[in-house]
Amino acid sequence: MIITYVTGNCTSCGGQQCYGNSCIGNNCLVRGCEICGICENVRLPIIKKKILYLDQCFFSSIFCGDDSRIEPIAIKIKQLVSHQQLVTPFSHVHETESLQWGHCQKKELFQFIKRHAVGHAFKFWIGVWSAQLQRAFQAYLTSIDTPGVIETDALPADIHRWDGYTWVDIRRSLEDPDATARCKADFVKRLTENFAKWRGRNLSYKELYAEVATELSVEIKDLIPWIIPTMRLFAARLVGEVKARQVVDAFLISTDFNSVPFIDIASTLYAKLRQKVQNPTWYTNPKKSLDKFNSFAFDVRFISTYAPYCDAMFIDKTMYQWLNENDVKLAKKYKTRLFPYSNDGLDDLSKWLDNIQNSILEDMKQNIRLAYPLANV
Ligand SMILES: [Zn+2]
Repeated sequence: MIITYVTGNCTSCGGQQCYGNSCIGNNCLVRGCEICGICENVRLPIIKKKILYLDQCFFSSIFCGDDSRIEPIAIKIKQLVSHQQLVTPFSHVHETESLQWGHCQKKELFQFIKRHAVGHAFKFWIGVWSAQLQRAFQAYLTSIDTPGVIETDALPADIHRWDGYTWVDIRRSLEDPDATARCKADFVKRLTENFAKWRGRNLSYKELYAEVATELSVEIKDLIPWIIPTMRLFAARLVGEVKARQVVDAFLISTDFNSVPFIDIASTLYAKLRQKVQNPTWYTNPKKSLDKFNSFAFDVRFISTYAPYCDAMFIDKTMYQWLNENDVKLAKKYKTRLFPYSNDGLDDLSKWLDNIQNSILEDMKQNIRLAYPLANV
């Protein structure tokens, strides 16, 4: 038996400094002796970790050490992660943004993010969207009330288990950074070219939201090619093949479709952008707009996909302002705390982390010390 942490002498064989913790798996601590091989399994209590999404700007700031306000917060986060109270999973957006980072250590940055997450990752966006849409469509068709958000749609089932002493890093990337860079540049160019079309209109936020949701309902068949055939197949079993097509088409223009979480949040953010652009004095300089909205698509992607599954998110200041406006109030709707990258936002995040730390009960502390003998809890 390999002992990772020696905790003392073996009472079975009498060996000196040969007994200790071997590994952790499936909420079970395996302890034993490296000499006689005696082994015991200690069941660890069930835990529910807080899920915190950290925007790329947080990680690049710690990585570069260019913001002294970030470091003390990063230390608190790391401690809570090691105490199994918090997890900061990485997403495909972290990978994409790391590889687009204009710094020679882009690959090292993504490795750093994965280490910070202790290997925990959000599921890929397309699977999350597909699960939300299929469930919403089934609820629409059967009138059975189903939750829009189920954690396992976006996070692995073992996210709340006690972390083992090691984790496996799969380093092969499927990303093509050059292709992504071209798509990104093309998207922001088309987006900002639309500003002239949107400027000077006087539509309400609700009208703009409906406009974006309608556009998304048209784009969805390209974004998730299998989703329409899957819905039609499901509908055909209930209403027959002839009606199935009509039912799917009706769903795609219904308020039930607009309420699918990722559609709702993406529609919100793009509607907010159009609302701001209606002001004839905002974002009038094309060059500045290209810079300002350079990563807008990435921000919309990760917020719309993952916000409903997070207890808290640390996000860009503009995104925070838009999501916090009276006609949106995303935090209240999805019960997700939002912290902006600002002095106040960092202070609030720090207090939120302190509250988690201060709420660890003594029983739990004993289990943490048992499982991780070097933990300072
Ligand atoms: Zn022994």
